[in-house]
Amino acid sequence: MKNALKITALAMLLASCSSKPAEEVSAPKMASVTQFDLDQMNVSWIRENDGAHLMPARMFVGADSALIDSLGVADGVPSAMSAYLVRLNGKNILFDTGNGGERGKVAARLDTLGVPPTAIDYLFITHFHGDHIGGMLNGDNVVYPNAQVYVNQAEYDAWMSDTANVQAITTMQKYQSQLHLFSIGDALPEGVQGIEAYGHTPGHTVYQCGKLLVVGDLMHGAALQLFNPEICASFDADKPKCIESRKRILKYADDNGLVVAGMHMPMIIRMPAEK
Ligand SMILES: [Zn+2]
Repeated sequence: MKNALKITALAMLLASCSSKPAEEVSAPKMASVTQFDLDQMNVSWIRENDGAHLMPARMFVGADSALIDSLGVADGVPSAMSAYLVRLNGKNILFDTGNGGERGKVAARLDTLGVPPTAIDYLFITHFHGDHIGGMLNGDNVVYPNAQVYVNQAEYDAWMSDTANVQAITTMQKYQSQLHLFSIGDALPEGVQGIEAYGHTPGHTVYQCGKLLVVGDLMHGAALQLFNPEICASFDADKPKCIESRKRILKYADDNGLVVAGMHMPMIIRMPAEK
């Protein structure tokens, strides 16, 4: 992977890809929100964690202790808990919703950005784990009443078929009138593309919006997994599939010079294509 990808720069994106100075961004500066422009889009990386968010190194299957030592991540692998807001063509597009409940901060942070949850036009869900769909409900109430919600049919079918998945079933029922189930390859609003990245969950989906690639839970510890995609997190359901997805998506991002934003990545990275 190291040789194949030839990633030439890994950098916090804020300074490098913003076409206007940070001072011009109208929203107040928040340590837990990073904003940048990317072509025609304005992207807000919204973290629920206020400070460092570490995942225990023992949660990474296949990472040997020498690697963990060499990276200095024995006490925890830098991670995050995030959602992404994209403002494009006058539309507000949200990718995932965070935890919701007491730990949930996405809705409040959208308010602070001047985009209250009622102003979200489209909501794209990467997968049905609670830290991604938990923020869709506040108690019994729908948090995004005006959003058209997009979910991969494969993910929906996998979760709906088991009555034990109470949170996913309840949430999807509440959103029934605004829910759109799609298949990979279907045309989605604002040119968003769903790309299959199965393995973490049966229908785990990555979304491309222009040059932005929202990779959901493709990586939980980028420091370990970016150059060692064979390392899985313990909660990756189908590990061989996960590894295949991780390699394919990272190569795709690198080949196309995409900006990679993950829900549990502690930084946003630009993957310049080798020309
Ligand atoms: Zn997650």
